Amino acid sequence: MQMICRNASSAMASLPHPGSRSGRSIDVWPDMRQISARKNLLYMFMRLFSIPFKTLRGASRTLRVSHFCSMTNVSSTLHIELVPCLKDNYAYLLHDVDTGTVGVVDPSEAVPIIDALSSSNRNLTYILNTHHHYDHTGGNIELKARYGAKVIGSSTDQGKIPGIDIALRDGDKWMFAGHEVVVLETPGHTEGHTSFYFPGSKSIFTGDTLFSLSCGKLFDGTPQQMLSSLRKIMLLPNDTNIYCGHEYTWSNSKFALSIEPGNEELQSYALQVANLRKKGLPTIPTTLEKEKLCNPFLRTFSTEIRKSLSIPDSADEAEALKAIRRAKDNF
Ligand SMILES: [Zn+2]
Repeated sequence: MQMICRNASSAMASLPHPGSRSGRSIDVWPDMRQISARKNLLYMFMRLFSIPFKTLRGASRTLRVSHFCSMTNVSSTLHIELVPCLKDNYAYLLHDVDTGTVGVVDPSEAVPIIDALSSSNRNLTYILNTHHHYDHTGGNIELKARYGAKVIGSSTDQGKIPGIDIALRDGDKWMFAGHEVVVLETPGHTEGHTSFYFPGSKSIFTGDTLFSLSCGKLFDGTPQQMLSSLRKIMLLPNDTNIYCGHEYTWSNSKFALSIEPGNEELQSYALQVANLRKKGLPTIPTTLEKEKLCNPFLRTFSTEIRKSLSIPDSADEAEALKAIRRAKDNF
């Protein structure tokens, strides 16, 4: 049995407002060793009954370049490790240090994940899928067979996600080894696209909804749906780390600069991105603050972008997003 909290109100009602520091307000226990010991004991007890539990704790973070596969986000207990897959996909290993629990987000193929787990002698408990596309779920069946991992995804995509065990809906709160995960439905790229928000680690896995400097193509959804999904993400705190499904940032920066060349933040970020990619380093994670300043799909109000694409002042933001998406598709 999994603990899934379904709140009658929407997920956003429980999310902090932009700029809120509420994610830090949970540092209420005085002694970290005591916290860890309590958490381990409680977690072992809950695991006995297969029920993850919720813990209260804050998270500090640093970034480092892992010897194994690029950038890792290290919070006090949750490590996020980037694993390059296929040509330009990223899967992410989630490792709860206290319990040893490991999950993976969007394993497009099994081998890089198995290699990463084997190198540190780790098991795999959960597979989280943001959407059903093969380049996000291709490793599900092999990983599930090898490790007995549970597959988690959107209830809307239940029939399309290989091996799905736990179907979640917008606003559900699911626990990953004591870390709260808020499920945000973010349709537009696909009907059942879901993003996984970890408020304690100030991190969100956006799959193919929000990329650095772009958004996903509109395969099953409308511009209005994508706009609503992006707005939902924009309500999170500015220092939220964005972990997306692909390394597209350099090419995205070329399009963004072509329609908003006067944006100095974008100019500076594009240079930084080019330097990272020339060295073979990832540009992910990005931050919500950076994206708000530079990503054209979060800047449908921009006079310069509208002028570049001849979007009339009278056009609403969904119409502007549609025009920006069309221009990007033809870039
Ligand atoms: Zn996709």
